[in-house]
Amino acid sequence: MLYKISCHDNDLYFFDEGEFKRCPECNELLDKWNEDLSNTKISKRLKADISCSYDGVTVVSSRFKDVCEANELTGLNFYQLNNDYYWILPDSVIRFDSGRKGLIFEEKCSECNNYESVVGASPVVLLESSIRKGNFAKTDLEFASNDEKHPLIICDEKAYSVLSKSDLKGLLITKIEQTFN
Ligand SMILES: [Zn+2]
Repeated sequence: MLYKISCHDNDLYFFDEGEFKRCPECNELLDKWNEDLSNTKISKRLKADISCSYDGVTVVSSRFKDVCEANELTGLNFYQLNNDYYWILPDSVIRFDSGRKGLIFEEKCSECNNYESVVGASPVVLLESSIRKGNFAKTDLEFASNDEKHPLIICDEKAYSVLSKSDLKGLLITKIEQTFN
């Protein structure tokens, strides 16, 4: 069984200022997840141990990282921010069913071939029923519009069991009902 991890917004932006690789035609971020995001300063304590920026970056506390490490959950990359926060992204990729009914790809850019919006992340329909390596994975498809686009974060039964028993604030985990082999 696989699960989707989600969280609430934290009012932060990572990509509103600074120099990032963007498409000259549509302004799409071209190398979003390889950019250095350590310049974004988190000036206040965040209410949650896991939360999401308005531009799709998932931020976790050192408590979240400690829970993963103490329970030997692997497959999640932690990138250091200030104030003991990290942004995270899983290593493994899991395929989302791009042919699923109701999924809408809007405004393809002829220059960079990216879509302005990908709508319809719910319900989650995956083409694989397990994670190749580690306890976490990101979907190959990224959802939402413009800078907000981000993959879904998926976890396995072990991570679900550990995280749902933890008292980490802001963590939302939902079971994925349909997966195909
Ligand atoms: Zn473009």
